[in-house]
Amino acid sequence: MKTNQSQKQYQHSNNHRPRQQRDVKVEIGQRFPLTIKRMGINGEGIGYFKRKLVFVKGALPNEVIVAEVTDVKPRFLTAKMHRLKIPSPDRVKPRDSYAEEVGGFELEHLAYPAQLAFKRDVVLQSLEKYQPKGYRSYNLKPTIGMDNPYEYRNKAQFQVRRDESGHVIAGLYQERSHHLVDLATCSVQMPATMHVMRGIVALMEELDVSTYDEKHGTGLVRTVVVRVAAGTGEVQVVFVTTEAPFPQKNTLIKRLQAAFPEIVSIMQNINNEKTSLIWGEETRLLAGKPKIREVLNGLQFNLSARAFLQLNPYQTVRLYDEALKALDLSANETVIDAYSGVGTIGLSIAHAAKEVRGMDIIKDAVDDANENAKLNGISNVHYETGTAESVIPKWLAEGFKPDALIVDPPRTGLDDGLINAILDAKPKKFVYISCNPSTLAKDLVKLTQQYHVDYIQSVDMMPQTARCEAVVKFTRA
Ligand code: SAH
Repeated sequence: MKTNQSQKQYQHSNNHRPRQQRDVKVEIGQRFPLTIKRMGINGEGIGYFKRKLVFVKGALPNEVIVAEVTDVKPRFLTAKMHRLKIPSPDRVKPRDSYAEEVGGFELEHLAYPAQLAFKRDVVLQSLEKYQPKGYRSYNLKPTIGMDNPYEYRNKAQFQVRRDESGHVIAGLYQERSHHLVDLATCSVQMPATMHVMRGIVALMEELDVSTYDEKHGTGLVRTVVVRVAAGTGEVQVVFVTTEAPFPQKNTLIKRLQAAFPEIVSIMQNINNEKTSLIWGEETRLLAGKPKIREVLNGLQFNLSARAFLQLNPYQTVRLYDEALKALDLSANETVIDAYSGVGTIGLSIAHAAKEVRGMDIIKDAVDDANENAKLNGISNVHYETGTAESVIPKWLAEGFKPDALIVDPPRTGLDDGLINAILDAKPKKFVYISCNPSTLAKDLVKLTQQYHVDYIQSVDMMPQTARCEAVVKFTRA
């Protein structure tokens, strides 16, 4: 078994952990009682067997279980729950029958208030590991959650295959396997995405559309992506195929449009690589318009098929509100919106700023961002294609000194070159939106050379998963 993030986190962490005894004799298949002390950053239960760390998927803090060892590593064990002896009062029945086997449902067996507490604790665990300056006194605010932590995902991106009996299935992989689980229902998806997805599956079956066969690298449709704009109800469907010719496409399009008037955009993306990456380079319009329109905070956003948009539109508004509050702009200030996607953050603050500049590496998203500025009659923003680590130093060299900087990087966090540029430029106002507490904590080690952490506000963008988003407000040291 591969070492996962949580296991690495604990191997390196040397706080709040009993002294480890590494020469414990233990064998795969061995069973012993275990009390779960905490949850790791991936949502697994953590206990200690003779002072050796044990990770148990699905076990919750304070539970007493009989663990069965599945792997023995020098510094930790992994085990499965053989028997649950004393369940946690926070244990609930998952809504999705497959929650324990498919990735992305790690917390469905945990009551929601405890999920929110966990997400704050994940930030704390990451800080304890990297120990950025002053971390013990950071103000970690309680996680902002949802009233109804289900039916929030605006996009279903499902693999499409045939099962042993030749039926079309669409869903997600079983964890650490290539077994696709057909998701007929899904409690976290917006109903509109599942309604269309299941309609597509039924039609593909009826029209006998060829589906991808991973083992032999044959067949046509690999992935179906259904994205709904919550603000308008518009739906976009993308068929990711291995090649351009798509024999039944005309019938498929007609039938889809007749059955689902909400589908305003049907696209085809071609990916003929043997890869786990979803998207190929070429995207074609099959029917309707190439973009759907979302509305966030009263602004209109046109979205290309490949442009990133936060997956939870209800919490996006709250996340951005938190970011804006943390940024605390006054009129006449200049702002950089780094990792801007389709410009959702920058455009939301443009009214309060003198000038906003942003960048993203996906050209389609940048084009969308500039078009979205026009669409909303906003003229003081400008988006560019490129990496944050190249574009920001370029702007600084050209003499653009931003008063405020907001960064919203992917899970890998900030590039070292970019951190150095930030430390040099020292913008007065600085906010970091992170979707990965580990890389956040690591970046904080450097950033705290120049900045104090005022507070960290976690926001639950992905209920039922172990994913955690946080807004960090800095003040200049
Ligand atoms: N702020 C946006 C997007 C955040 S997601 C929103 O709230 O919707 C992170 C974005 O960073 C993605 O759009 C991705 O394309 C972009 N990205 C990834 N690596 C980058 C880099 N090195 N420089 C700039 N943008 C990058």
